Amino acid sequence: MHKGILIVISGFSGVGKGTLVKRLMSSYDNYALSISMTTRPPRQGERDGVEYFFVDKEKFERTIEEDGLIEHACYCGNYYGTPRAYVEEQLKKGKDVILEIEIQGALKVKKKFPGAMLLFVTPPSAEELKRRLVERGTESPQVIEERLARACEESEGVEAYDYVVVNDDLDACVREIHGLVDAARRAPAHREELIREIREELKEYAKGAK
Ligand code: 5GP
Repeated sequence: MHKGILIVISGFSGVGKGTLVKRLMSSYDNYALSISMTTRPPRQGERDGVEYFFVDKEKFERTIEEDGLIEHACYCGNYYGTPRAYVEEQLKKGKDVILEIEIQGALKVKKKFPGAMLLFVTPPSAEELKRRLVERGTESPQVIEERLARACEESEGVEAYDYVVVNDDLDACVREIHGLVDAARRAPAHREELIREIREELKEYAKGAK
């Protein structure tokens, strides 16, 4: 069992996952954010190694062959995947690692890491989602349509997640997510050391040695 908690955050495109994650990272120091690899071209202002590692299909496929990704999926015609080394290293250090990934990847993570916590972020309504996507202004009307269609498909898979949080008020949503992670840290699997210490000491008492 890793020391840190693996947190998967999914949600419809445009729901504000990126902003939520940035706010979580700046408000608390227990989180580490995994940077995904993708074959999608960068949007304006996106930098390689910051939002994503932008690679071509050949490099992506080579990384899969080398078992360098925990999971990968195809989303709207592009590959996305989670690099393994960083995640494992941070979990070992006790950091709670955030993966901001879509549903196919989330399900693969849950299979490989049953202790992972799966969060699904929704908007207050479908209408609000469409408004946010249009207002973001980074996608063409055709891509927006594609992403809304994908959201419709994804809405069928929400039951596979552990928690559903509504992103209406950003700060409230950040606090809610942090609260859930904090609660998960109290599961026995994350308290092994404490439990072991108490057990050892109780055994000493029981033997009358103390
Ligand atoms: P975008 O192109 O809007 O940045 O991301 C599209 C979708 O891909 C989002 O739902 C995002 O969460 C997801 N995504 C980003 N990185 C990964 C990843 O490493 N693996 C998977 N499975 N999905 C990802």
